[in-house]
Amino acid sequence: MKNIPEIFGCMVFGDDVMRERLPREVYKSLSKTIERGTALDPSIADCVANAMKDWAIEKGATHYTHWFQPLTGVTAEKHDAFISPVGHGRIIMEMSGKELIQGEADASSFPSGGLRATFEARGYTAWDPASYAFVKDGSLYIPTAFCSWSGEALDTKTPLLRSMDALNRESLRILRLFGDTETKRVTSTVGAEQEYFLISRTLRNQRKDLLFTGRTLFGAPAPKGQEMDDHYYGPLKAQVVEYMKELDEALWMLGIDAKTKHNEAAPAQHELAPIYAPTNNAVDHNLLIMDEMKRLAAHHDLVCLLHEKPFEGVNGSGKHNNWSLSTDTGKNLLDHGKTPAENRKFLLILAAVVKAVDDYQDLMRVSVATAGNDHRLGGNEAPPAIVSIFVGDELSDVIRAIVDGKTYAAHDAGTMNLGIPTLPSFRRDTTDRNRTSPFAFTGNKFEFRMVGSAQNIALPNIILNTAVAEVFSQFADRLEAADDFDSELAALIRETFTAHERILFNGNGYSDEWREEAARRGLLNLRTAPESYALFDAPKNLDLFVKNNIMSEAEVRSRKEILLEGYAKTVNIEALTMIEMAERDILPAVENYVALLASTAVNKKTIGPHIPTRLEEKQLIELSEGMERAYEALETLKVADREAVALMGDATRLADAYCNRVIPAMETLRREVDALETKTSSEFWPIPTYAYLMFRQKGKI
Ligand code: ADP
Ligand code: MG
Repeated sequence: MKNIPEIFGCMVFGDDVMRERLPREVYKSLSKTIERGTALDPSIADCVANAMKDWAIEKGATHYTHWFQPLTGVTAEKHDAFISPVGHGRIIMEMSGKELIQGEADASSFPSGGLRATFEARGYTAWDPASYAFVKDGSLYIPTAFCSWSGEALDTKTPLLRSMDALNRESLRILRLFGDTETKRVTSTVGAEQEYFLISRTLRNQRKDLLFTGRTLFGAPAPKGQEMDDHYYGPLKAQVVEYMKELDEALWMLGIDAKTKHNEAAPAQHELAPIYAPTNNAVDHNLLIMDEMKRLAAHHDLVCLLHEKPFEGVNGSGKHNNWSLSTDTGKNLLDHGKTPAENRKFLLILAAVVKAVDDYQDLMRVSVATAGNDHRLGGNEAPPAIVSIFVGDELSDVIRAIVDGKTYAAHDAGTMNLGIPTLPSFRRDTTDRNRTSPFAFTGNKFEFRMVGSAQNIALPNIILNTAVAEVFSQFADRLEAADDFDSELAALIRETFTAHERILFNGNGYSDEWREEAARRGLLNLRTAPESYALFDAPKNLDLFVKNNIMSEAEVRSRKEILLEGYAKTVNIEALTMIEMAERDILPAVENYVALLASTAVNKKTIGPHIPTRLEEKQLIELSEGMERAYEALETLKVADREAVALMGDATRLADAYCNRVIPAMETLRREVDALETKTSSEFWPIPTYAYLMFRQKGKI
């Protein structure tokens, strides 16, 4: 058993290590940069780089890499050895300050959504001292931002840091209005609960769909699914226990506070939750968690599936993005507090979040829109595609009272003047148990539950931070100009809740009634990813990003383009994989079985016409008819895919074709093939079935 406190963060070049290894002045200067987000003093770069290199070598590193988050949704790295020749065939181990703070990366191999056409192809990576460097797999990882030479952000980290800055700036304006002069920095915090599936690597390798797309494209339901509810929180299997242990330790060494682990609802589904951290760190950590989950599974003959919907008919995976605001004085701004003054501030902040989510529900939806997540959102296990907010009964009553201008009298709580009620100190556990809500207030944080399990959580948090910063800024403008702060505040809170009450919903988000009710309320129901991408660059959204300095118009448009193209590419790969599997593996296998049935029937009749062949004949007919239908569906899919490919160059029409033509054709083919599966001898069926994939982790079929 390892000593956990000792190994925790041992692979991170964190504050302790810096203090120990850097000269005092250098340490002070670097800390200032990290804490205040100021520019790095270039004169200390060499010294920091050298200390970092020496430390990394002690930890077993031979290489260093700038680690960045391009718009592919995954991370990128390019490793350089520390070696540097000194003549006579000898080398020394070296890393210069320049190599630490800046790297060149050929931007042309990463998606740039048109930015590349307009600007230079080369890009550069720039050290982000606010994220600690770490050693993993023999390399020193240096977290960086990735930009084009003309300054456009080509990554997800740059706009995220900008959104955190905007939120800090506008939050401080709000706090100052309430007389808080002490707080110097407000940081958005995130804890992302990560769901995933673990299945046998041996079985996975026998399925092209899992290999190429990370999800099953065919598969009739297993006799047993999740209906017994016996997996959720159930005991962990030995193999999974071993895996989770190794995963926890690897994450702890990287300074990631992996805290909770348990089995999830679906068979073979699990969850890991870390303790929350400042959003930029939480994003880095989540990316590392996903990497390590995939990498370490191989040690246990397992594969980790992060896809949002690996198996049809059982729960998919999401990522609950818990979000809050905390001050450098240690306060959580979403704690409602006990005094009337704290209540007012809390209600204003709550009102701001409610308005932000209502005003930018389209962007919230965009931020979680991926081809994979489309299979999950709106299914009966995940939030609908409609964005709404759950605040619980007690807060709802408070808001109702404010809107109606009435006194809120529950729980003996008094009311203060100006119509703003004091809040009862409600217990947290009464507030957070509506699992059907896409955006739920859970006591002192909001939980955004639409986020997909495979995606980078940067975009959802960029949107949240920016939308809330924008509303804070509008509120601050108005309150700063007010003659009578108290009455203006009361009016603002009341007006805001009145105008945005429609986004509040405490009922069952999975129900059909809610879909109808939401439509009556005028809430958006963006069913598919392409439908939502269309709104990314709506004028009001461009204004939001530009005004708050998060992204330029070109940066937003490029991202939209990349999302549309990424969607089309994903579906295209799935369609081609289906075609290949149906045409070359599944239909020939069924044909073999049909041939066996036919020859058996003929043989029996030859031996004696009185020998019954009803079974063979019935199956022959059913399978032959089924194969005809599957063949037709296959041809339709091929045509649909070919027609879609022809639209390349027009990203909107391309994504639309994949969404509305190719996917329906894929669904038809799947239905036909799944029907064949239920009638074909398992000896002939060429790929592992759902039953094996979900209930067997080790071993062969
Ligand atoms: P539950 O299991 O009910 O969803 P938990 O209290 O276990 O809630 O928290 C779930 C996640 O929320 C954890 O990752 C936790 O770190 C995170 N979290 C808790 N407080 C905050 C906060 N103030 N800001 C962001 N995330 C938070
Ligand atoms: Mg949760």
